[in-house]
Amino acid sequence: MRNIINKSPETHPLTWRVRNDHNPVWINEYKSKNGYFGASKALHYMEPKEIINLIKDSCLKGRGGAGFSTGIKWSMMPKDNESRHIHYLLCNADEMEPGTYKDRFLMEQLPHLLIEGMLIAAFTIKASRGYIFLRGEYINAAETLRRAIKEANTAGLLGKNILGSGFNLDIFLHTGAGRYICGEETALINSLEGRRATPRSKPPFPASIGVWGKPTCVNNVETLCNVPAILEYGVKWYKSIKAKNASKDTGTKLMGFSGRVKNPGLWELPFGITARELLEDYAGGLVDGLKLKAWLPGGASTGFLTENHLDVPMDFENISQAGSRLGTALAIAVDNTINMVALTRNLEEFFSRESCGWCTPCRDGLPWSVKLLSALDNRKGQPGDIEILEQLCSCLGPGKTFCAHAPGAIEPLQSAIKYFRVEFEAGIADYFSNTSKITCIHNN
Ligand code: SF4
Repeated sequence: MRNIINKSPETHPLTWRVRNDHNPVWINEYKSKNGYFGASKALHYMEPKEIINLIKDSCLKGRGGAGFSTGIKWSMMPKDNESRHIHYLLCNADEMEPGTYKDRFLMEQLPHLLIEGMLIAAFTIKASRGYIFLRGEYINAAETLRRAIKEANTAGLLGKNILGSGFNLDIFLHTGAGRYICGEETALINSLEGRRATPRSKPPFPASIGVWGKPTCVNNVETLCNVPAILEYGVKWYKSIKAKNASKDTGTKLMGFSGRVKNPGLWELPFGITARELLEDYAGGLVDGLKLKAWLPGGASTGFLTENHLDVPMDFENISQAGSRLGTALAIAVDNTINMVALTRNLEEFFSRESCGWCTPCRDGLPWSVKLLSALDNRKGQPGDIEILEQLCSCLGPGKTFCAHAPGAIEPLQSAIKYFRVEFEAGIADYFSNTSKITCIHNN
């Protein structure tokens, strides 16, 4: 197992500053370890357009799960001559994907890395207000971020005329009330404004009409934490970080494995490492006596893969070609003692409960899937139930609903039926089993 890893800024740009005692890295220690170097370089020596080109060239993709180019997202914000409105930067820290805990780790241990990433992003998109929308249950992260924001204000790294550059930025922490759908960027905007957290119809995109109708850029915590090192070490270095399988994705990614593995956890790794390496070399494999049956690559809303997919490189393209999604890259192992119908029912119950209820297929379809799965789980399913579940999956697929909640919700269901259909068939009650008891027909 590779628990003890020699970390350097070049190999582990996100986590090399993490302390052995896992206390937060506060401002003095962060600055002594080259902290705010990237922000200082940006504010004093670079033009926003130059930074956008740099981030585009680095091929940094959003780490929240969708994998959209960060440079392109930043370039969608209105330019000076197109907008006289205030711009907002919104950090999406509403990490509620089951099995995912990477942003929590960054916020609890490296709060200034996030603030520095936000400072560079805000300068680039010309935002003078930044919000961190934090999952309500992350009490420790909230305390850590509050203190770090205060430290940065005192040190002149937030507020007015930052580092004498003339640039102003205030960052506010906003804690959510515990709804999964707030992770969807437009639902997050509604929630921040004090409205019901339903996604908004797109277009218009937040880059044109976002928070309080003003241009807004929404970035994930880990995405923003990648930015300072790109400013510091450059694009050539960032693109050179790769595992031996030449992945098209650049930089490092926080990856992990949970479930009944010997060493569940989180590691900063280059894209392209195989799932087998992640499971066996880092997570130590399954606990003795158990066998891997399936795994989810990146959270509950990604499709199941099997043992046959363990040699697939962990990156956006390869996991997608294998039939799932990289998602958050925090994988979950399913062992041979777990029934796939019961597990899928559990997941669909969660997604059904978290539906915002705006569109019919999601509002009605997900509870229906739970009803059918519960029947199958109790061996009371009826012939045709599996086919209805498959029809539901096609009615809830991409493009059928306002947001990606429903398409994400049916990914584990669809893949569970595909790979483990026999377990679903075992849930069909044998309604005609008593026919064998009829031995004769009596005359009236
Ligand atoms: S797909 Fe579900 S969560 Fe998304 S808008 Fe429709 S009802 Fe709401």
